[in-house]
Amino acid sequence: MSTAFGQSTVLGYPRIGGNRELKRAVEAYWAGEIDAAALDDIAARLRAEVWRTLRDARLDALPSNTFSYYDHVLDTAVAVGAIPPRFARLGLSELDTYFAMARGVASEPALELTKWFDTNYHYLVPEIGPDTAFAANPAKAVREYAEAREAGVETRPVLVGPATLLLLAKSAQPGAAPFDRLGDLVEVYAQILRALADAGVAWVQLDEPAYVADRTPAEIAALREAYDRLCAVPRRPRIFVASYFGELGDALPALLGTPIDALGLDLVAGPGNLARLAGAGPLQGKTIVAGLVDGRNVWRTDLRAAIARGAAVTGLADHVAVSTSCSLLHVPVDLAAERALEPELRRRLAFARQKVDEVVLLSEALRNGTTRLPEPLPPAPGGWRDDTVRGRLAALRPTDRQRGAYPDRAAAQQARLKLPPLPTTTIGSFPQTAELRRARAERRAGRLDDAGYTERMRAEVEQVIRLQERLGLDVLVHGEPERNDMVQYFGEQLDGFAATEQGWVQSYGSRCVRPPIIFGDVARRSPMTVGWSTFAQSLTDRPVKGMLTGPVTILAWSFVRVDQPLADTADQVALALRDECHDLEAAGIRVIQVDEPALRETLPLRRADRKAYLDWSVGAFRLATSGVADDTQIHTHLCYSEFGEVITAIDALDADVTSIEASRSKMEVLDDLAGIGYRRGVGPGVWDIHSPRVPPQAEVVDALRRAVAAVPAERLWVNPDCGLKTRGYAEVEASLTNLLAAAAQVRGG
Ligand code: GLN
Ligand code: ZN
Repeated sequence: MSTAFGQSTVLGYPRIGGNRELKRAVEAYWAGEIDAAALDDIAARLRAEVWRTLRDARLDALPSNTFSYYDHVLDTAVAVGAIPPRFARLGLSELDTYFAMARGVASEPALELTKWFDTNYHYLVPEIGPDTAFAANPAKAVREYAEAREAGVETRPVLVGPATLLLLAKSAQPGAAPFDRLGDLVEVYAQILRALADAGVAWVQLDEPAYVADRTPAEIAALREAYDRLCAVPRRPRIFVASYFGELGDALPALLGTPIDALGLDLVAGPGNLARLAGAGPLQGKTIVAGLVDGRNVWRTDLRAAIARGAAVTGLADHVAVSTSCSLLHVPVDLAAERALEPELRRRLAFARQKVDEVVLLSEALRNGTTRLPEPLPPAPGGWRDDTVRGRLAALRPTDRQRGAYPDRAAAQQARLKLPPLPTTTIGSFPQTAELRRARAERRAGRLDDAGYTERMRAEVEQVIRLQERLGLDVLVHGEPERNDMVQYFGEQLDGFAATEQGWVQSYGSRCVRPPIIFGDVARRSPMTVGWSTFAQSLTDRPVKGMLTGPVTILAWSFVRVDQPLADTADQVALALRDECHDLEAAGIRVIQVDEPALRETLPLRRADRKAYLDWSVGAFRLATSGVADDTQIHTHLCYSEFGEVITAIDALDADVTSIEASRSKMEVLDDLAGIGYRRGVGPGVWDIHSPRVPPQAEVVDALRRAVAAVPAERLWVNPDCGLKTRGYAEVEASLTNLLAAAAQVRGG
């Protein structure tokens, strides 16, 4: 068996299938429509298809164990036996225990779900404490390796590395850091390595992306010790440590100082890795796996620039393999599935399948300079440029991002809105019922025309307004029935955005999203939401809140052009939203909410990069919202409760009212806000909408009393944690009834 790493590889490949077959299969299994054997069968077919695809593309180093029924972090947690006792106790089959951890069961909530670094993928957070009984369970990795081998393909099993697994974990016991268990965990990885070697595995890939974020010297020293130990395992496979999403910094020389056999560097998101590598001294026969093809965006690689970068690596290392910058999990499967894309856009795109070809081509070109490269792309079509938008951006002044003084605004708004203390509202969406989804499907299929569709949506808006009036909310919403998705909805109406037909990307578990592609200058053709908001407002005397998605969130949940700074694209989106705010205001809408749930998740992984990010992201939000009069009330909504460094940015957004998730964290956020001197309106969520549970009135009263102690009642809003689109009407009515009764009780003193 050859022990060379190979010349070309990818760090991972989409596992959902070209037609989201995996989604359908696991959902059918959950619904009891197919059994475990049938599910297993479909999964094996999907894996085989990926290996065949990669091999036929002439990739020569193939990953395995990148398939997952739900999440690769959960898979690794299971492989090391980190199954919390509350799930082990259920006495379910291995598969059902796995799904119980992922989705919860009636008696046990699921593991927490959170964002995978700064991507839109969510992983399940392992729970690890002093009592976690680690035990090697290499069965899945061994089986997938054997399966590939059976099909004639030699593969490299992939696992999340031990240091990253612990750094991503949450403590199962207060005061006990999961990372303290690294020594024990490494012994379990050692056993897994032995088992893989016994199965014939030549190379294993251990992912340590946690080290592209700021890490302490102690964490870096522990990483080094861990790999020294793993490399000392007799009869082990060769070890490839992969990093991605940025620069390894001091962890790079630390890893090179261990006897690992290969190190993977992201040269797209972490160009500085190159200089660090150059300064790291002799590589002692190690293979450098150069991540030259962007695994997170959909643009074709600039092959000539990538070759130059690759050549710089070749000059430093004897063995270089070409790879993607990270797993291709984050991009759609195959451009060939798109039939309607404009040809000028299409020729500029590469999805997962196309990126594999780029890797192979680059690796050939780097080895023999004679490989013919495709012609470089011509400049972008003139029609993608919008000189009006560019002129407006060039003419912007600081005052365009500045509203009047808050006390004046607050007085003007109160004179106009006449809200009671502890005003009540919701975050925007009401339940997306099966009928609403059916109406959208019928329209797509051509069975329902636009007029018929609009009529159904209006009927829904009317019901939502009547319900809110009946319950007695102060500031109403139209309920967002017409929105499939809070970004896609705007992408479909803005110039410079393209939608795909099949560009699905896994978000979490069986959930996939289809991010739009921002390819050109962004401009608003016509009002996007005014018709819905004014219709809703025409039905009631109470103020109806206009509802927009903010520029940072629109960028975060799209594939964004890379030919200009993100800040410029954000400002273009902001101008479109500014015009929309203006039109809403002119149409008599007195309150406008601009949602920024993604503000925190795209925070750069390294502290040094954060100020620049917060400057442009806050600037874009303010550009979008500063064009309105003092007496128009701007709300924003953020979907998380642990702000960290974003806390000062929340103040800088200068919204009149900020609603935030707070119910799980018991209003702690109010102390954080008080700490930075935040003095505007705030709506800490008092109902955890992520759970079907109806909050009892007394519990809401309790939360509100705690909040009133920190924030005066005129500035304190009463609302749920987030939108209600995933809830059912029965829970919504019951919960809102309790919310309103609680508000009334606390108002009464
Ligand atoms: N207005 C959106 C809703 O209510 C906000 C969603 C979000 O915060 N992610 O659904
Ligand atoms: Zn939210």
